[in-house]
Amino acid sequence: MSRLMDDYNVKAATKFVQSAKSPPLPIDIEKIFGENVFGLEAMKSRLPKKVYERLLATIENNEPLDSTVADTVATAMKEWARERGGTHFTHWFQPLTGSTAEKHDSFITPNKGGGAIAEFSGSNLIQGEPDASSFPSGGLRPTFEARGYTAWDPTSPAFLIENENGAYMSIPTAFTSWTGEALDYKIPLLRSIAALDVAARRALALFGVDDVRNVYSTVGAEQEYFLIDEEYYYRRPDLVTTGRTLLGTKPPKGHELDDHYFGTIEDRVLSCMLDAERELYRLGVPVKTRHNEVAPSQYEIAPIFENSNLGADHQHLIMLMLQKTARKYGLVCLLHEKPFDGLNGSGKHNNWSMSTNTGLNLLDPGDDPSQNLRFLFFCAAVIRAVFKHQDLLRIAVATAGNDHRLGANEAPPAILSVFLGEALYDIFDKIAQGATISNKEGGFLGLGSPVLPPLPRHSGDRNRTSPFAFTGNKFEFRAVGSNQTISFANTVLNVAMAEALDELSSSVQAQLDGGAAFEDAIAQALRESTLETKAILFEGDNYSGDWHAEAERRGLLNLRTTVDALERMLDEKNVALFDKANVLSETELRSRYEIWLEQYVITVNIEAETTQAMAETMVLPAAAKYFGELTATATQAKEIGVSSSGMAATASATGDLIDELREAIDQLKAVNMTHIEDGHAHAVHMRDKVIPAMDAVRLACDKLERVVPNESWPVPTYREMLFIR
Ligand code: ADP
Ligand code: MG
Repeated sequence: MSRLMDDYNVKAATKFVQSAKSPPLPIDIEKIFGENVFGLEAMKSRLPKKVYERLLATIENNEPLDSTVADTVATAMKEWARERGGTHFTHWFQPLTGSTAEKHDSFITPNKGGGAIAEFSGSNLIQGEPDASSFPSGGLRPTFEARGYTAWDPTSPAFLIENENGAYMSIPTAFTSWTGEALDYKIPLLRSIAALDVAARRALALFGVDDVRNVYSTVGAEQEYFLIDEEYYYRRPDLVTTGRTLLGTKPPKGHELDDHYFGTIEDRVLSCMLDAERELYRLGVPVKTRHNEVAPSQYEIAPIFENSNLGADHQHLIMLMLQKTARKYGLVCLLHEKPFDGLNGSGKHNNWSMSTNTGLNLLDPGDDPSQNLRFLFFCAAVIRAVFKHQDLLRIAVATAGNDHRLGANEAPPAILSVFLGEALYDIFDKIAQGATISNKEGGFLGLGSPVLPPLPRHSGDRNRTSPFAFTGNKFEFRAVGSNQTISFANTVLNVAMAEALDELSSSVQAQLDGGAAFEDAIAQALRESTLETKAILFEGDNYSGDWHAEAERRGLLNLRTTVDALERMLDEKNVALFDKANVLSETELRSRYEIWLEQYVITVNIEAETTQAMAETMVLPAAAKYFGELTATATQAKEIGVSSSGMAATASATGDLIDELREAIDQLKAVNMTHIEDGHAHAVHMRDKVIPAMDAVRLACDKLERVVPNESWPVPTYREMLFIR
């Protein structure tokens, strides 16, 4: 059977490559880029000048939306979509499930005369009321007022999603309760960008930069994913229901040979990537790089960075498009953090920085000596932000899926630390020791040179093991899970950065008020902050056991699991941080705490039930059948006086494994049935009792997989799934 499946899929693979429709190559990126987006160009050519300018003021300068323009914009949008075959529109939003949601409405309203009229007004654009009472609200919406509503986000352009049989227009929206509480990921992100804007402009003013109208965070997230043949996917209930394999032994050849990493991309996969990229270009998503990743059948795609609100929306589109396109090629895109045990999992490297509307990257050291201080000031603020809010950054990446990956020698540990690179680390070390940082005498930091020493920018100098690394002109937060929205991670970064900038600015201001010279004031503020926060700086190997011990000595947090992380979420400092910056009220924060605990419990529960079902209805019968054959053969051999001790021994060993499996299944059933009212206690139970019981079932199944004949093993093996491309 398995052999046949291999042959089948090799054929299927070739067939799909040939049959999938592709327009003639090469793709003219410039021509198609953004053609499915109602972006600035489309707006400019279709809107009256006044309306366009009003809208532009909102999009580019954060000015409040002038709702009187909505009708005009709606009409232009509808025409634009209809010309492209769009029949429906949807408010596209990001509920706290972590994925995106949409409900389509037709532009066309049939009328009494049997005809139809096209309708889409300003109010349809600005506000929607999806019947969305089933989305998690963490108690924010009592059921009697269950409906949330969606509100147009004009800063992220509407786009057209096409299908062979039609097209619809998606309007990025925020999702809120009638009382104005955020029910989604977008609202807090937008609020955090606003908080960062205020704090960053205050800091810039200290440096005499006062021509900046707004500052926003930028993000470019590198997305890792697996592609496997859909035939295998369908035959694995665990992949279908949970996105990861709950049993399966590691193949004899994994990624030990490192022959996949950056290797030539296989044809079928390349076709799929090119197709997905083309659709992303048309949607205005600036994808840039692609390559094979470390594990077999693992890949990566990365966009050029953008404003983090748009970047977060686009990150969702990347995930959607990868999944959608894969199907056209008989493939399935696995976004889970750990689809295959024993092989590298998938993450999302969140590259993050800050830009001004005048085009300054505030984390770029530049080569103008007069910018040295400003760069160091912003860098010191990042260090401070990560040090003070290690827990929140860990919480931002805390999911049941990501727990399998963090700290498993393939991804950063659960301990947060900041990697600066030797040159920059030295500078902060000198600052902490009280070096003068004047440009005047003796050069910058007394280095005899007026500029910063060259900071490493190419990957050779990077520390791949660090969860939070400076990479030349941005920081890279590497702990984000592949399946997650990047919105909350960036919300935390923005709000923590806003607070750090404010604290540093106040410290400088206090020095200045006391009569200190500007450079001395900065030096003093940076020195104090660095002394306070330098425990977070670590240049060594984050995967090593020594680091765990060292981190503990330094008093850094090591929140191993989602539950450990969430336990810190409502700490006073966190409530205060979000509340003060108007990013999340205590109620909004608490609702997220409850939802995330619940999601953890539900995820583990589904996995446990699936493990149990597969073990009981697939593995056990296969093992029993084999056991029956062994015992029958052994008996027959004995009857006719043929040597049968090997048979008997094999039967006996298999019988032992079946005993082990039976016991493990019973144990799993017993612990997974426990009902616990309190969300936190339930999550602890899932972590401490259910996951270990699941692991025991898996262990027994995996041992059986090594003895049961390949042809009667009930699910595709790792070897098949990972190497048939
Ligand atoms: P590499 O990491 O291979 O050197 P790059 O540094 O060009 O490649 O970029 C990696 C990712 O970081 C890309 O998604 C890129 O868009 C993003 N990135 C680059 N500069 C910034 C920035 N200023 N802010 C946010 N992300 C950025
Ligand atoms: Mg990178």
